[in-house]
Amino acid sequence: MKPDANFKNGVAAAIAAALFFCACGKPQGAREEGLKVLASGYAVYAIAREVLGDTGARLNMLVPPGAEPHSFEPAPQTAVRIKEADFFFFLNGRAEPWAMQVSDGRAIALAYNLPRETAGAGAHAWLSFDNAAAMAENVAAYIARKRPQLERRLAQNAADFARETQMLDRLFKISLADCQTRVIYHIGHNAFDSLAADYNLIFKPLAGAVFEAEPSPRQTAAMIKEIKAKKIKYIFTEEAISPELARVVAAETGARLLDLYTIEHITKKDFDEGVTYKQFMIKNLENLKKGLSCA
Ligand SMILES: [Zn+2]
Repeated sequence: MKPDANFKNGVAAAIAAALFFCACGKPQGAREEGLKVLASGYAVYAIAREVLGDTGARLNMLVPPGAEPHSFEPAPQTAVRIKEADFFFFLNGRAEPWAMQVSDGRAIALAYNLPRETAGAGAHAWLSFDNAAAMAENVAAYIARKRPQLERRLAQNAADFARETQMLDRLFKISLADCQTRVIYHIGHNAFDSLAADYNLIFKPLAGAVFEAEPSPRQTAAMIKEIKAKKIKYIFTEEAISPELARVVAAETGARLLDLYTIEHITKKDFDEGVTYKQFMIKNLENLKKGLSCA
């Protein structure tokens, strides 16, 4: 191993260790047992959970685990659940128009006024770390406005999360700096373009921006041809979305499949285990490092 690779791996290991042994401050300020907070889908839920932490709030999610968030259709009880919540957070009106329609003006947009612009009107904004931190600050600010007694606790939790996202960003930068290939061949939807751009990677999704947008046989054939011609060893997929198509491409090309997690979609098992934003992003990094052969 080259000395600079040794040094780089040492720095990466130190950041990874710091991420798991949070030197967060002692919680300060009041708690409010029974405060009811509702999130539209898992991305919003995962970020709100970081902020609510030890406040005593009860957090719930509208799109159930295992369901597909882009094509979610509200049920008759959706409006009732929103009405019963003290706060209802969602992405924004363009990414989740259904939430606007059923919330009677109570929906609070988190993907709003963000530092990094992303494709799809913020539909995957949290996959940029700066945006995830800003969304957490939005949660804290909105609740604190109505519940000033919680302000210190919420602000501290949001600041702790922001520090984690900064460390994740550094870890991604270091770990993805030196890779044999920089192209992510993805048999899934167009969710990771901003993440790829942040680390100077090229994102090539096979499906469209929404889950239902099936690629044409011509597009699929063209990607298979390219993967074969370039002798790509690993391709990426979202197990939850298009496993059949990904398996076909893998079988045709001999490439192995690795998962990338959008965090907007969550299996029942991962939800029950409480897999966090940080854990999903570290899984993404591990798979990117392996799939792109990063030193
Ligand atoms: Zn998506």
